[in-house]
Amino acid sequence: MSNNMDLGYEMFCYRCEQTANGKGCTKLGVCGKTPEIANLQDLLIFQIKGISCYGKALAEDGQDIDKSVISFIENVLFTTLTNVNFDVKVHVELLRESQKIKENLRDMAGEMKNHTAHASYNLPETKTEMLKDAPMAGIMYDKSLDPDIRSLRQTILYGLKGISAYGHQARVLGYYSNQVDDFYIQALEALTDDNLTVEELIRMTMRTGEMAIEIMKKLDEANTAVYGNPTLHKVNTHMKKGPFIIVSGHDLRDLEMLLE
Ligand code: SF4
Repeated sequence: MSNNMDLGYEMFCYRCEQTANGKGCTKLGVCGKTPEIANLQDLLIFQIKGISCYGKALAEDGQDIDKSVISFIENVLFTTLTNVNFDVKVHVELLRESQKIKENLRDMAGEMKNHTAHASYNLPETKTEMLKDAPMAGIMYDKSLDPDIRSLRQTILYGLKGISAYGHQARVLGYYSNQVDDFYIQALEALTDDNLTVEELIRMTMRTGEMAIEIMKKLDEANTAVYGNPTLHKVNTHMKKGPFIIVSGHDLRDLEMLLE
């Protein structure tokens, strides 16, 4: 297993602020992410780019993309965030599902003129074979790629991952933004397009920022509609002996279920 960095790394993840030495986790994530999970996640991202290639072709043809596809893409992006999910079985299942979705869209869209490796790739059966393929989804696989293009693609991808966290929480409450849903497809497809210039990718990066604001608005709408507007309350701040549960993060639905 390797990430094809030519440095013998077993994995490469620099997704979050905990990243080793401020550069990247290469043996084991500071968060506990294993090389196996990191490589399966690289392949999952590769797959949703392929799904988006067909999604974009269908959208341009005036066909609607089923919301279940968008929800899948969003869930995959969310799954790759720091310690959201380290379950190997779930990742393999998601990969198999990604292939089914891609094949469905391929049937609907037909073969495309400019189809990318992401679109035409067919996932193998077993986890071992999937892991063998994973290096092609690594950040440095295409060594000839312009560093600015590589950097902009990563910035957009990481923006999408952030958007997906809010989007996922809003969707669980029954809220979503069509603008953001369309953008997942447009942006992921753009990451596979070798014809896009630095300027075009900068514009896409700015658009990613706008979509982050849009999804935060949507999540706020969802939270306040379902749970009401936050108001000041007096709370008990006295320290007590445990046991206790510490809750962090901003998923109010998770918090509600935990309290229940
Ligand atoms: S998500 Fe985990 S593996 Fe990735 S950079 Fe953060 S700590 Fe490292």
